[in-house]
Amino acid sequence: MAPTDLDQTREKYRQERAKRVGGDRDATLALTGDLAHYLQDPYRPAQPRPAVTDDVDVTIVGGGFGGLLCGATLRGLPSGRDSTRIRVIDRAGDFGGVWYWNRYPGAQCDIESYIYLPLLEETGTIPTEKYAHAPEIFDHARALGRHFDLYDLALFHTSVTGATWHEAQRRWEVSTDRGDRFLSRYLILAIGSLDKVKLPAIPGAEDFAGHSFHTSRWDYDYTGGLRTGQLTGLRDKTVGVVGTGATALQCVPYLGEWAGRLYVFQRTPSTVGERNNRPTDPAWAASLQPGWQERRMRNFTAILAGGDADTDLVDDSWTRLYTALLHPVPEQLGITEPAGSAGLGEPGRLGELADLAMMERIRDRIDAVVTDPRQAAALKPYYRYLCKRPGFHDDYLDTFNRPGVCLVDTGGAGIERVVPDGVVAGGRTYHLDCLIWATGFEWNTSYTSRIGFDLHGRGGASLAGKWQDGLATLHGMTTHGFPNFFTLPGPNSQAVVTTNFMHMLTECARHVSYIIGATEERGARGFALTEKAEREWVDTILARAKYNAEFQRACTPGRFNNEGRPDGRPRANTNFGDGPLEFFQLLENWRAAGGLAGLELLH
Ligand code: NAP
Repeated sequence: MAPTDLDQTREKYRQERAKRVGGDRDATLALTGDLAHYLQDPYRPAQPRPAVTDDVDVTIVGGGFGGLLCGATLRGLPSGRDSTRIRVIDRAGDFGGVWYWNRYPGAQCDIESYIYLPLLEETGTIPTEKYAHAPEIFDHARALGRHFDLYDLALFHTSVTGATWHEAQRRWEVSTDRGDRFLSRYLILAIGSLDKVKLPAIPGAEDFAGHSFHTSRWDYDYTGGLRTGQLTGLRDKTVGVVGTGATALQCVPYLGEWAGRLYVFQRTPSTVGERNNRPTDPAWAASLQPGWQERRMRNFTAILAGGDADTDLVDDSWTRLYTALLHPVPEQLGITEPAGSAGLGEPGRLGELADLAMMERIRDRIDAVVTDPRQAAALKPYYRYLCKRPGFHDDYLDTFNRPGVCLVDTGGAGIERVVPDGVVAGGRTYHLDCLIWATGFEWNTSYTSRIGFDLHGRGGASLAGKWQDGLATLHGMTTHGFPNFFTLPGPNSQAVVTTNFMHMLTECARHVSYIIGATEERGARGFALTEKAEREWVDTILARAKYNAEFQRACTPGRFNNEGRPDGRPRANTNFGDGPLEFFQLLENWRAAGGLAGLELLH
């Protein structure tokens, strides 16, 4: 690879970025009034039930894997198995979180299921495929709910509307949209980061006269079929999909197969690496030794964090990609600049060449699969590999070889507007019977806006107010002025985020349960984080922040760089900079010290 390639590539990436940056890219529509149908649960009707007014030990808001992990680890405490009254609340109709909602055809985990599905050893489960499909993952979530006795007190199809701390009673009072008003000793928010359906603020969305839905509310009554295909209701329909992220990669092949005609509206192409899914080998499953899942999770996280790992247990496109990018071997990547040349001596240059080599493989794969050169050219992503979450699929690209499938590349502008009978992009109207939004979830709004309610802690202080100008926590999980309260961290939370989100959730649930258990063991009625401990953690976060602003500023806009404004969020809203395994070790050391440092017990 010649040095000029790198210069040309930088210029090409800069031009592509310039097409996309600016404007109000992440503005969203309020899903109320004519747009409220986008939030309705198409899978299960809400049942009438009496309001609850009781008093429980722990309330967990969010019945996805984060909430389930908290419930499961609490049940593992000496007092927890039968006696702790744990209430899970979710606006969904069952456990599962994103796996309750995301039932679009082809949905599957994009992290290996042996490390993504939690508590496999505890429940004696082995997924049937390396990348399990959504129904199996949803079933696992429900099995965890049963296994850990979390159904009895659960409230589904219920949204929390407020939570207020009562100091004298040492209790949170929780209210909901179903008229519930109950007390709870502890309150845990396990909301995740993919909860709030996002429709981009495109003019005219409410005027569309055809059928439309968001991918997380798939309307099988309209499309027909199942999550494995057979979408016979679309045979005579012209369908448009907006978005080409991870969700679109998975559902477009099914739409391409079944729709009469399919338009895929693209703003930025995803990277599409190889998936190579395969069924689980029973002999391999039988050979696993106790503790295997945690070892495998740690091994994956270590490799993706650039750490040393003797072996690559998962050995998939993720681990090979990160190994190539973080420990580049020039000969393997076809990099011809001699290692000792002035060029490769330049800081970061080898990494950039490795990135270019890996992106060239992604672009070459498109040429190898997509037969129409114009569509192939439009599908090629031009940015550094890790500017966006990498995508993997083995059928997405081939879908564009189907006669009825057309990629509408909007040149970075996105669709312009929606009209009653279709969508306008690049000045042309595309007439549609059905419009499907694969536009993801809000992540860029404030925490309380995402969760949909505010909390009032000591002295009536509001959490929205407290975090308005930046987060302040200990370990991203507790905050001063809000006793007996935890959040499970998400991105930019003063904790860490692991590519395998389940690893982070597992460690954090363990930590939350430890604090509750230790508080109870000491005969206390709760805990409160001191202001000093919070200040010290914020200082630690600021001091160790390793946000590579230069890299992010050059990236195409997206979630990782705050939609092209990497300097536009509060400095404190960032992750622990030393890396995930160091963060987990820090939590373990904190627990091992046994003193609940930074917490005051409430009696
Ligand atoms: P997403 O990654 O946020 O992608 C949204 C898509 O909509 C992007 O392609 C975006 O383009 C496009 N878009 C937004 N506004 C547009 C406009 N005005 N015109 C045209 N296109 C527009 O959403 P997602 O694919 O639903 O994924 C959401 C999250 O779920 C991601 O974190 C993903 O990794 C995760 N996920 C995970 C799995 C799994 O297997 N575990 C499966 C699916 C999804 P830009 O790229 O230009 O912004």
